[in-house]
Amino acid sequence: DRVVAATADGDDHAVEAALRPKDLGEFVGQERVREQLDLVLRAARARGATADHVLLSGAPGLGKTTLSMIIATEMGAPIRITSGPAIQHAGDLAAILSSLTEGEVLFLDEIHRMSRPAEEMLYMAMEDFRVDVVVGKGPGATAIPLELPPFTLVGATTRAGLLPPPLRDRFGFTGHMEFYAPAELQRVIHRSAGLLDVVIEEEGAAEIAGRSRGTPRIANRLLRRVRDYAQVKADGVITREIAAHALQVYEVDGRGLDRLDRAVLTALLKLFGGGPVGLSTLAVAVGEERETVEEVAEPFLVREGLLARTPRGRIATPAAWEHLGMQPPQQVTR
Ligand code: ATP
Repeated sequence: DRVVAATADGDDHAVEAALRPKDLGEFVGQERVREQLDLVLRAARARGATADHVLLSGAPGLGKTTLSMIIATEMGAPIRITSGPAIQHAGDLAAILSSLTEGEVLFLDEIHRMSRPAEEMLYMAMEDFRVDVVVGKGPGATAIPLELPPFTLVGATTRAGLLPPPLRDRFGFTGHMEFYAPAELQRVIHRSAGLLDVVIEEEGAAEIAGRSRGTPRIANRLLRRVRDYAQVKADGVITREIAAHALQVYEVDGRGLDRLDRAVLTALLKLFGGGPVGLSTLAVAVGEERETVEEVAEPFLVREGLLARTPRGRIATPAAWEHLGMQPPQQVTR
């Protein structure tokens, strides 16, 4: 329920469809992936062929689902959406594959979380457009080969390194999605404000962009929260002041840190003089589970260069002291 979570919540699902860019031209940022993918798709279209399989890697909320839908649109093909955890048996995958139509795009989110037998079935499907469906059990079991129409698999994963090499190698194109620069997020926010009929000043968009942790999903969510505030507390127009006040109410600071992030940093600085301190001790000091600190708060703090994980424990960087407006203790030199 964090307003700065990169994963989608129920509210996001309801509005994200309306905010998704429909084609590559509308898709903001990710220049390299966009340019390379544009070539792949144009070439396939010119050949009248189905596009190569595409692997998209990157953190949650950076636009992998959106890009898979754009691939389908650009190819004039329908799209089927499923995810690794939803495919627990090879039979689940066989059912999906055998119902695909020619050229269809199959989007497989969290592809690294598929079961092993399903993964092995996918190897053959990707390479030869064929699967062996096993009928029966034990000695009487027979494998019935099933021809598939050519299709494009778009796999998404948070870490391409988690994929077994045989699977990774079967993708013709791999695109790595980076976090977005503030100026790019500003464009995302402007575009979404237009679609949501919200009046926003350039500086208001910049204020939200700077707190969005490089992630369009967070930018869109913060925009909606700021819109609520602007409607209730002002005349609906999002200025820099309105955006800053609204995000203060939601406890998102100027750099995108929320209450939990700041609690971790504050404990590290105030109680442990900036560290090094062990993760468990830090978690107790904050009153959170070890996993919460490690998996929810730390990745962003590390990415922002505010906290470092060292073999001796967690330490605060000079930027952390500066961000919280505190002075590091003086080193005693003799
Ligand atoms: P997850 O892995 O959590 O499913 P994702 O990487 O698939 O996340 P999307 O669902 O595609 O992310 O995007 C999240 C939201 O951010 C959507 O509302 C989408 O419209 C918006 N968005 C993502 N990338 C862009 C972009 N480049 N330009 C404009 N809007 C974007």
